[in-house]
Amino acid sequence: MFDRAFISSSSVNRALDVIGDRWVIMILQQAWFGVRRFDEFQARLELARSTLTNRLKHLTEHGVLAREVYSERPLRHEYRLTAKGRDLYPAALMMLSWQQRWAPPGGQAPILLRHSGCGELTTPRMTCASCGGEVDPREVDYTLGPGASAATARSPRRRRSTVEGQPATRTLVSSALLELLGDRWTPQVAATAFFGLRRFEDMREALELAPNILADRLRRLVELDVFRTEVYQARPQRLHYRLTDRGRAFYPILLALLAWGDRWYAPPGGVPMILTHRPCGAVLRAQVACSVCAAPLDSHSVTPVAAAPSVVRAQQS
Ligand SMILES: [Zn+2]
Ligand SMILES: [Zn+2]
Repeated sequence: MFDRAFISSSSVNRALDVIGDRWVIMILQQAWFGVRRFDEFQARLELARSTLTNRLKHLTEHGVLAREVYSERPLRHEYRLTAKGRDLYPAALMMLSWQQRWAPPGGQAPILLRHSGCGELTTPRMTCASCGGEVDPREVDYTLGPGASAATARSPRRRRSTVEGQPATRTLVSSALLELLGDRWTPQVAATAFFGLRRFEDMREALELAPNILADRLRRLVELDVFRTEVYQARPQRLHYRLTDRGRAFYPILLALLAWGDRWYAPPGGVPMILTHRPCGAVLRAQVACSVCAAPLDSHSVTPVAAAPSVVRAQQS
């Protein structure tokens, strides 16, 4: 079931245009935990003022953060999450959930989450809103939606090097997750696997990507244990790239980003792609739910606990 349109029209692309950058993800994670001021972002992330200024501007221009005056004299601004920014919270929960299981940030206590609804520590799960079942990427079907053709026109790309220095140690996000999400192409290459692509040539064609860039990202994805290779032809040697369990567990993050992209960037005709949850037959509406009581989770009902003291702070929005 391979159609290039699935990949070129997917709303994941538009979501990654906005957040597919390691600094952006680190800034957003701090914002979700209540950080609002420039100096506070800088102190926590230990990044250059120019880099921080640049990324805050990017997020403000895309309407994810709003810059607001909090002091007239001296004039001071703070950055608050907009409704659009808060709507990325399900993706943030799935990121925390993924790294809890697969890639704890080095040398830190893991960030635990408490659900106020049931009072228990929760591991957020991606579920189908219709049947409540946990979403398995192998049980999702894709068809093109009414907005598919309008969505395939590609937006101009921000070109950015993959590595802009190492992330600071005091980040809430593990380096593996930053590598997976923090550049424009790595998550897109991983996403092709969820559409059933396994071969280099198919991926290259679907993404219209230079072979050297694709080869580089595939190599990293194998090193990160997201893909494993499998020889399917001996001479000349040809490889399949298949998802590992760790790679498959990445799917809910992409699903959350896709849902966000659909909500905020769908073309006028409608969503570009329709997902069907095969076990129940309903159109898949992704919903992050509590692993203990199965109730839907949102930013008001989840509180981080037992993390490094600096990040334990009441959720604000
Ligand atoms: Zn279902
Ligand atoms: Zn609960």
